[in-house]
Amino acid sequence: MKEKKQSDLAVLLGYAGSYRWLTFLGLGLSAVAMILGMAPYICIWLVARDLIAAAPNWTQATGVARYGWMAFAFSFGGILVYFAALMCTHLAAFRTASNIRKQGMAHLMKTPLGFFDSNASGLLRNRLDGAASETETLLAHNLADIVGSAAMVLAMIALMFVFDWRMGAACLLSAVVSVGAMFSMMGGKIAGLMAEYQAAQDVMSKAGTEYVRGIPVVKVFQQTVYSFRAFKQAIEDYSAKAEHYQGDVCRVPQAINLTATEGAFVFLVPVALLLAPAALKNGTFASFLTDFAFYAVFSAIVSTALARIMFAASGMMLASTALGRIAHVMNAPTMEITAHPLTPKDNSVTFRDVSFTYYGAGIPALDHVSFRVEPGQTVALVGPSGGGKTTAASLIPRFWDVSSGAVEVGGTDVRLTDPHVLMDQVAFVFQNTHLFKASILENVRAARPDASRDEVKAALSAAQCDDILEKLPDGMDTIIGTEGTYLSGGEQQRVALARAILKDAPIVVLDEATAFADPENEALIQKAFAVLTKGRTVIMIAHRLSTVVGADRIIVLDSGRVAEQGTHEELLRSGGLYARMWADYQQAVKWRISADEGRE
Ligand code: ADP
Ligand code: MG
Repeated sequence: MKEKKQSDLAVLLGYAGSYRWLTFLGLGLSAVAMILGMAPYICIWLVARDLIAAAPNWTQATGVARYGWMAFAFSFGGILVYFAALMCTHLAAFRTASNIRKQGMAHLMKTPLGFFDSNASGLLRNRLDGAASETETLLAHNLADIVGSAAMVLAMIALMFVFDWRMGAACLLSAVVSVGAMFSMMGGKIAGLMAEYQAAQDVMSKAGTEYVRGIPVVKVFQQTVYSFRAFKQAIEDYSAKAEHYQGDVCRVPQAINLTATEGAFVFLVPVALLLAPAALKNGTFASFLTDFAFYAVFSAIVSTALARIMFAASGMMLASTALGRIAHVMNAPTMEITAHPLTPKDNSVTFRDVSFTYYGAGIPALDHVSFRVEPGQTVALVGPSGGGKTTAASLIPRFWDVSSGAVEVGGTDVRLTDPHVLMDQVAFVFQNTHLFKASILENVRAARPDASRDEVKAALSAAQCDDILEKLPDGMDTIIGTEGTYLSGGEQQRVALARAILKDAPIVVLDEATAFADPENEALIQKAFAVLTKGRTVIMIAHRLSTVVGADRIIVLDSGRVAEQGTHEELLRSGGLYARMWADYQQAVKWRISADEGRE
């Protein structure tokens, strides 16, 4: 556990870069400040000594004022030095957090785009941002407090020997007891309990999220609260664990800890009572009283030091989880960008023995897939759901990189092509279209920022979006997603098609949407497809087989493998998977027509 913490610190200091020395300087100053802060207690001891020596002629105690001013100077100096210390640690902490953000963002820029599909980019950014700020507290405050408190403890041990070691030991005993009690709540077997307790908390919050997400389903299907047994179970489990940990395990140690911390003098008073008779007999009672006065005041700072250490320890724990979250971002897969890019020669697309397995997945989504699309050809990918169609399409613009084999565009491996060149060459329309919360104009213009208003308008027209623009209050300038301006799925697809048309790339990758089956939208989308695909190399994923009949070639993907390929006629003749799918499709169309007739 200790080793882990050290490595956390090392990681953090690594991010600090050259500002590391500022951290060290701050920590050193913090130690000095803490020791200066203890000096006034010695002044109090000096005052007590003077007063007791002069008693009962108090006016003869001449040094009191001087010691008072000295105490003031030490306190004030301590505060100034502490200020300077925090200044250093804060500067270093801010720089470290900013380095973490910069390096994290730089890393994210290199991860494949597909990574953001399973890790929403906003969430990643928030996570990075939040984690970076959490490390600030550790570097700016907690570390300084730990080092300062350690210096204080050392100074305390020294002071223990300077005056009366027996009373000093009594003061420190309370510190030892409370630290012991603290550790008994954290270490060994208890650590396992603590992990269980935190795991139960995780389970509960996940079950809670599911509960909230499931509310519509419950309402629609009129289910009772019993369908959320899992959530209830998670809460009960958590409360049992929490009660056990906090009640049975922590109650006694925590009581001891607080008592020892707050009542540091409980050991001092009995020890002093035991020592008093001997001091009286030896005639050293005056100096004994002085020492007692010192330790009685001094015991108060024992509890402050301990409280500070406790806070700092919890800060360490927070920072440790924050570093875990930062590591999640920093360990994301990256995409190599070639230093010597090759230029694609034409607009063909070739899959050469391509295999691809998603990160963390057991079985490959694509398994030795090979096919070629000649420039200007239209090739359709079809097959059962989960066959690997979307995966194959997303390898072309390098949303992911292949695990083995190669995807070539224009005869050049996409990994050896300049990403900008590749992006200019390939336009894609995917099922889950992302429209930004911006005007339609800006959404379409994202494809080609230098496009004029008229060009955007023409692209929207070609994508059959005129009816959408007409019904929006500000036409092309309407912000999507604001009140009353939500677009239906089919409408969003058409805007996405306008974007692809504006981009005017020679290769088009289309993942046709299945969800938007209303006939009106479908007809419009088909028209927009026709504009977009004219004269280009097209790789289309089609769910309605009617759209693939005219394709130059059809590739049937099943379980990540090419089951068969050929033209519509060839595949029908060979009587394989495609022929069966076609028969099913015909059947479905017939049903739909007869159902429509029945309605009339
Ligand atoms: P299709 O588009 O043909 O329906 P996909 O290419 O979407 O199929 O999926 C192929 C396989 O890869 C499926 O088994 C699917 O579960 C898996 N898969 C798809 N996307 C991901 C992802 N982001 N992470 C892990 N596995 C995925
Ligand atoms: Mg798909």
